[in-house]
Amino acid sequence: MDLMKKLTILGAAAKFDASCASSGGGRAGRPGQLGNAHMAGICHTWAGDGRCVSLLKVLMTNACVYDCAYCQNRRSAQAERTAFTPEELAYLTVSFYRRNYIEGLFLSSGVLGTPDQTMELMCKALALLRQEYRFGGYIHVKVIPGADSRLVDAVGLLADRVSVNIELPSRESLSLLAPQKTPESIFTPMHTIKRAQTMNLEDRRHYKSAPLFAPAGQATQMIVGATKDTDLTILRLSKALYQKYRLKRVYFSAYIPVGDNPALPAPGSRVPLLREHRLYQADWLMRFYGFQPDEIVSEERPLLDPELDPKSVWALAHPECFPVEVNDAPYETLLRVPGLGVTSARRILAARRQALLALPDLKRLGVVMKRAQYFLTASGHFGGRMQPGNPYLRAALAERRDGAQLSLFDPAGAQALPESLY
Ligand code: SF4
Repeated sequence: MDLMKKLTILGAAAKFDASCASSGGGRAGRPGQLGNAHMAGICHTWAGDGRCVSLLKVLMTNACVYDCAYCQNRRSAQAERTAFTPEELAYLTVSFYRRNYIEGLFLSSGVLGTPDQTMELMCKALALLRQEYRFGGYIHVKVIPGADSRLVDAVGLLADRVSVNIELPSRESLSLLAPQKTPESIFTPMHTIKRAQTMNLEDRRHYKSAPLFAPAGQATQMIVGATKDTDLTILRLSKALYQKYRLKRVYFSAYIPVGDNPALPAPGSRVPLLREHRLYQADWLMRFYGFQPDEIVSEERPLLDPELDPKSVWALAHPECFPVEVNDAPYETLLRVPGLGVTSARRILAARRQALLALPDLKRLGVVMKRAQYFLTASGHFGGRMQPGNPYLRAALAERRDGAQLSLFDPAGAQALPESLY
């Protein structure tokens, strides 16, 4: 099979992996426009300095011996199979880089033989890139669950970011849909990566020239909507992963129907993109706003509200905490106000050192007054049309969305909640 055919197959097979931002876009190119979000193979991520960089997004192989029910590359799926050799992949990456098509590589893979055999191929491709071609671009590599820790260590020294996909939010779901994977086969490499990062930091304290280990950290991906796991389960697990393995990101990927396994939502069901969006908002609240999972959702209401962003839901449920006076509220309290973000809260802290703030100042500082007006005062003045606690406030804050997008999830069938980290 020629290289372009392999690239077509392995680029298309990689597009379901969401753990690099912007994947899954379906906007085709149009006459008069430059570029599109449709072609398989190129995705984007954001560098530490905020630049958007294009990555060649491919699988090493789509010939997988596992049979995960939610995956289009599973053994039982009808698909043309192929694999890159390490030499082909390294050549392709460097050729695209020289043509200015890409700035880096996002490499994942099906399991070719065993996890170790697959990881050896991936390591060899990365070693060729880094050592033979002297490629200094960004590389994000997926670690194959169950791979030997020495291979995980080796790949971490060659890649910028490594990630192990957790795929499903509970032990029960994993054994139902991906019986060849175990939680241990996923958590062990995560632990290996965290341990290697810690040791690497220590080494670099003593030897500045020690090679970096996965300097962009580790991430993971969770499929949402393939099982009946609730948002509470997903958020508790995410929080535990951030704490225990110091993950940089947990990516949520709305399930795309690919199989007819009776344990999966029916083929043709709508993809719950809104649920994915709400989970990202909740994830943001946990990472930057000091929220705990149980403040965002609860045992009684284990699903995120489709109509309102999670911070507004929390604010409506706690009218006793509002309105907040922007001239003297602590930073943590400002962060709880809907419409007020990390940047605007910091700007308020800086601006109020100079002068008392009035309501018109807040918009200039980046506060979204459309939402915030109901929850704050400035120099004692309240600008909202309704007070916190008013029963009509929910309608004023609600976003107009198609609630049917959540149709894949049936709350009545929600599973019992597992312990955190499975
Ligand atoms: S191991 Fe990965 S590629 Fe293979 S079937 Fe499972 S999810 Fe798909």
